[in-house]
Amino acid sequence: MKTTYFSALELEGAAELIKNGELAAFPTETVYGLGADALNENAVQKIFEAKGRPADNPLIVHVADDSHLALIASNIPVVAQELMARFWPGALTLVLPKRPEVSSLVTAGLNTVAVRLPSHPIAIELIRLAGTPIAAPSANRSGRPSATTWQAVADDLDGRIAGIVKGEPTSFGLESTVLDATCDPPRVLRPGGVTLEQLKEVCDAIQPYSGGLSNQSLQGVNSPGLKYKHYQPQAKVVVFTAGVLESELQRALDRLDQVHYIGLSSPSNPMRFGSTQVCSDVGEYAAKLFDTFRKADIAGAEWVYCEAVSEIGIGVALMDRLRRASQ
Ligand code: AMP
Ligand code: MG
Repeated sequence: MKTTYFSALELEGAAELIKNGELAAFPTETVYGLGADALNENAVQKIFEAKGRPADNPLIVHVADDSHLALIASNIPVVAQELMARFWPGALTLVLPKRPEVSSLVTAGLNTVAVRLPSHPIAIELIRLAGTPIAAPSANRSGRPSATTWQAVADDLDGRIAGIVKGEPTSFGLESTVLDATCDPPRVLRPGGVTLEQLKEVCDAIQPYSGGLSNQSLQGVNSPGLKYKHYQPQAKVVVFTAGVLESELQRALDRLDQVHYIGLSSPSNPMRFGSTQVCSDVGEYAAKLFDTFRKADIAGAEWVYCEAVSEIGIGVALMDRLRRASQ
């Protein structure tokens, strides 16, 4: 299949593809999404084929307004309405009771549907032009780091999807927070762009992400995607605590050119690394992480050394991705 590339000024073309049951990738504020008409089962099936995504990993449906929300979810809990009022548009995905019209392909057979109203102007405009809710997982081959640039989407999916919108690199760079609003108290299923501290300002009872659970207990919390490997580059990811970099590196000392580094502190001898990415804060670290992984693979690096951060605020989501990548 020939993939057509669209600029941000050519969104009608990308919307036309979606209306016709084809796939188009587009930027959001979190990562690039691979979009299909959420109400067209054939189109949704193409997402799983293009990504190589397991069929039991449900998709997030992106909406542009309340009318789209009403097409896919019903009996929306009051707490979910309060969270929408505060965090939409934005990086919060809410798991809600689904309407029967939503294909079980989208929800992997669950009786709930994950919904998000993104804040990225291109994403919102594309959903509006397509005139339908858009099911969109991250626009990468399954298991690979999520795509934060259109070039990364192209590396993974050129020739496998009909269109790619060439937006800017994404600003947040990690995926959305997923919150199950159908249970009481609500529970964070995946940490992301909206932090627990922020969520608790709306509902103090919200349960934190329990990322240390085994796969079996994760199935118990009902977010099937979490049991899969994620975010992994070909290079080995090593997560180390600040201050122990030098001793961690002993085993690679004679091959430092094979090591790429990302973190908040400056390594004492940066010139010897294949690449050194020193970030000024956790936000910049989150935004650059997946691109660092992908660049390491393009350069043929053997290791990516990542400095651990404190697990507060965005640090919870960042550490979750680092752990999964290093598994
Ligand atoms: P991705 O689109 O690749 O960022 O992954 C979507 C995430 O949302 C996965 O971790 C899914 O398990 C989760 N998800 C989607 N729908 C549901 C749902 N109905 N219930 C629980 N988790 C969901
Ligand atoms: Mg994904």
